[in-house]
Amino acid sequence: MKSFPFQQVNWLSSIFLIATFFGTLIGVPLFFIFAEFEWTYLALFFGFFILTGMSITLGYHRLFAHRSFQASKPVRFFTLIFGAAAFEDSALDWASDHRDHHKHTDHDDDDPYSISKGFFWAHIGWIFFKLYPRQLNNVADLKKDPLVMWQHRHHRTIALLVGLALPALIGFAFHGAIGLLGGFLFGGLARLVAVQHSTFCINSLCHMIGKRPYDKQSSARDSGIMAIFTFGEGYHNYHHSFQHDYRNGVKPWQWDPTKWTIWSLEKLGLASGLRRVPEEKVIMAQVRQLRKETEAHLNTAEQHQDSCPKHRDAYQRLKDVSRHLAEEFRELEEAAAKRVKLSGQKLRHWRMEVEHARTLLALSSAAMLA
Ligand SMILES: [Zn+2]
Ligand SMILES: [Zn+2]
Repeated sequence: MKSFPFQQVNWLSSIFLIATFFGTLIGVPLFFIFAEFEWTYLALFFGFFILTGMSITLGYHRLFAHRSFQASKPVRFFTLIFGAAAFEDSALDWASDHRDHHKHTDHDDDDPYSISKGFFWAHIGWIFFKLYPRQLNNVADLKKDPLVMWQHRHHRTIALLVGLALPALIGFAFHGAIGLLGGFLFGGLARLVAVQHSTFCINSLCHMIGKRPYDKQSSARDSGIMAIFTFGEGYHNYHHSFQHDYRNGVKPWQWDPTKWTIWSLEKLGLASGLRRVPEEKVIMAQVRQLRKETEAHLNTAEQHQDSCPKHRDAYQRLKDVSRHLAEEFRELEEAAAKRVKLSGQKLRHWRMEVEHARTLLALSSAAMLA
């Protein structure tokens, strides 16, 4: 115990996180023992979960941390108010940590929630300690926004009023004194624990579960399942490859309610300047990654081809894949350099080529292992 770094413990945040977690765990079953279930409580839980959760993903993350679009004053104000109610510090603090995470991903010393220190650290452990004192030296642009600075000064008061008092008052309006407690418990306490762990999962599980089609060097992963629990932030390998894109789920069918909301806000005239990575660049990243994997497989096949017929077959097939990918890549590079507008047919062709190469690669490596 003597070696435990007590002086580095972030006491306020640690006590808050532990108290709210166990308060929910004990409070919810106790409430149902002594009080009747009302649909209002469920509505308050999900209503506030969506409002505060989306204010983090759409506001704190994609708008303030990445500037992936511009938003009108009402949108900025709304996301700052309900973002504060998620009890995840101010937008300025959050964006600063997050920009460090992107700049130094997977580097122990500079990535505040590096997954290289394990699940627990990336998920919640980093908040318990003050190992990365915030410098706020990477948010000069946000410091110029008076609304952001106002929220930075008052985020705790806003959090208490909007995140806990407001749902309690709504509960009171519907069901009197017991509703006050129910609203506080479901729209406040349980909801904030759920939102916080949804955000924490982006830093932990989204660096552990899923595939890495764009960049295998990064621990960030794409997972449709994680996207369900994180308002679309589960396509994290794409996001780490193209952090300024307002979409995380870049394919139209990928579950990304945050992207759909930003798009809708643009149609309503409340958002503008949505940043999209050109499709050929997205395909290029996948081809680049596939080429690296093909080269690695080719090396293995080459080393064993003299002694093993399976490796000899795989070597020949992989050589074809490699040549084909090199040609596709050259064509893509030229198109990107000349900034030519490509036809939908051409893009479809490349997308199919990527899938085809991925299948061939999987078949070749399976054949070598068989
Ligand atoms: Zn990440
Ligand atoms: Zn990000």
